[in-house]
Amino acid sequence: MEQQYVQCNKCKESKIIDEFRIINTKFAGFMPVPTCIKCENESETKYKERYRLDTCKAKIKLLKIMGGKCVCCGLTQWWILTIDHIKPVKKDKRIDSRSLMFKLLKNPEMRKDFQVMCYGCNNSKNTGEKCNFDHNLC
Ligand SMILES: [Zn+2]
Ligand SMILES: [Zn+2]
Ligand SMILES: [Zn+2]
Repeated sequence: MEQQYVQCNKCKESKIIDEFRIINTKFAGFMPVPTCIKCENESETKYKERYRLDTCKAKIKLLKIMGGKCVCCGLTQWWILTIDHIKPVKKDKRIDSRSLMFKLLKNPEMRKDFQVMCYGCNNSKNTGEKCNFDHNLC
């Protein structure tokens, strides 16, 4: 059987049909998607990188606005800091941290209920309102 070639609409290369994902469309039955698997993967990685970068930038910006250090122990590295709801919130009422971050960036009033804490202090706080670490231990 002869190989079937399809042109990818992204890299414009003609590739054998095996390099395309085949989907079952309602009207035309089985069809190769217009972009080759390689291009599909590339745009997905780019999107993920972009997404990660945007999230980090938003987090750094928000942390700066909110004091930039753990209110308890004073650590300042952004990657170990988290936005802590001062009064503990039930798990089912929590929204995901990314959407929370963007809401807080836009809403100064809302920020009053939150503080910056490092993951360590935040974890030790657990369901209480204060960090339970003895920071003077050593
Ligand atoms: Zn391609
Ligand atoms: Zn801390
Ligand atoms: Zn602490």
